[in-house]
Amino acid sequence: MRSPTDQRTVPRTTAPRAGGRVELVDLCKRYGAAEPPAVDHVTLDIQPGEFITLLGPSGSGKTTTLNMIVGFTEPTSGRIALNGRDISRTPAHKRNFGMVFQNYALFPHLTVAQNVAFPLRERKVPAAETARLVGETLRLVDLDGMADRRPHELSGGQQQRVALARAVVFSPSVLLLDEPLSALDRKLRQSLQREIKRLHNELGLTFVFVTHDQDEAMTLSDRIAIFNRGRIVAVGTPAELYHRPTTQFVARFLGESNVFAGRRVGDGYEWRGRKWTLGGPTAAGAGERAVVVRPERLNVAFDEESVPAGSNTAPATVTDVSFYGTYYRLELAFADDSVGCAVLPVGAPAAVDPGTPVVAHWRPENQVLVAE
Ligand code: ADP
Ligand code: MG
Repeated sequence: MRSPTDQRTVPRTTAPRAGGRVELVDLCKRYGAAEPPAVDHVTLDIQPGEFITLLGPSGSGKTTTLNMIVGFTEPTSGRIALNGRDISRTPAHKRNFGMVFQNYALFPHLTVAQNVAFPLRERKVPAAETARLVGETLRLVDLDGMADRRPHELSGGQQQRVALARAVVFSPSVLLLDEPLSALDRKLRQSLQREIKRLHNELGLTFVFVTHDQDEAMTLSDRIAIFNRGRIVAVGTPAELYHRPTTQFVARFLGESNVFAGRRVGDGYEWRGRKWTLGGPTAAGAGERAVVVRPERLNVAFDEESVPAGSNTAPATVTDVSFYGTYYRLELAFADDSVGCAVLPVGAPAAVDPGTPVVAHWRPENQVLVAE
């Protein structure tokens, strides 16, 4: 009997290639002299076989960066290398990278099989080899049986699988995906996230994935590069960026946080007349600093006397309480009018009504001092 994993294993005629290493060095793109640069000195070393995500708000330069990697957009300055070889001036078709877009971009008049075969035709792959590769790749994305349909006869999720098949059928060493799941509803998005993760594991290619969705970035990526205004403001594993954010922007963009803007005084920290003990990671760099506490690190007490010794504290008012089955989420308004939240395991606190004054507290080692 076949095990469930066997059904997914596709015999390959071509051995899976190792993923390519992509280096971006000081990459810049200006669309107009009067406008701020769309991409501003981006340097990033993407490892062979890595799943890296470019995450950032709309307009932060993610698509422009991807288009420069694939060769659709020419950099204003800077360098792109594949496996150590400069490809900055290499035309897109010679870079041989796979690309998947948000809007599928399938040829409507061609069948599924013809769409997937398209890159092979361009590469003059013989017919028999084409048929075999198309069949293999359609099985890989669970679309065998759909070969003769046209795109309009498929669901959005199926169309995106066709686009994925077309992007990997010619064994590229790098696959670039620009918000491929953003047009799909939540449930479908989650199932395709698993598909994409599985494809990455099976093919061993380097994946460069663009999204503005932090949850998607967290669950899929080996590493995340956070973009803001054309620059990379942080790079790290999801856990590193979550537990050691370097700036308020990173802390707010990835996961929820309580951000306290006070000032460093001597070897402590002052926030609204309270003296806090420093502890936990401190981001390097000067400038205005803030203390960040993630919601699961924050506790609440009903009075100062019940706070464990050695904790840092901030008075707050509970503004909302939600029950999520495995945890409670408390929304908090702090004395300086900033808002935050605490995530508490079920059974920990007695029910708290909105409007209740509380004392938020946490261990100093569970806070992060950010640089800006
Ligand atoms: P993202 O993908 O992160 O949303 P983009 O890379 O698409 O960001 O855009 C970055 C900036 O460059 C934006 O300010 C956008 O308006 C500008 N931009 C993108 N493409 C062009 C273009 N073809 N011509 C002029 N400006 C552009
Ligand atoms: Mg974009």
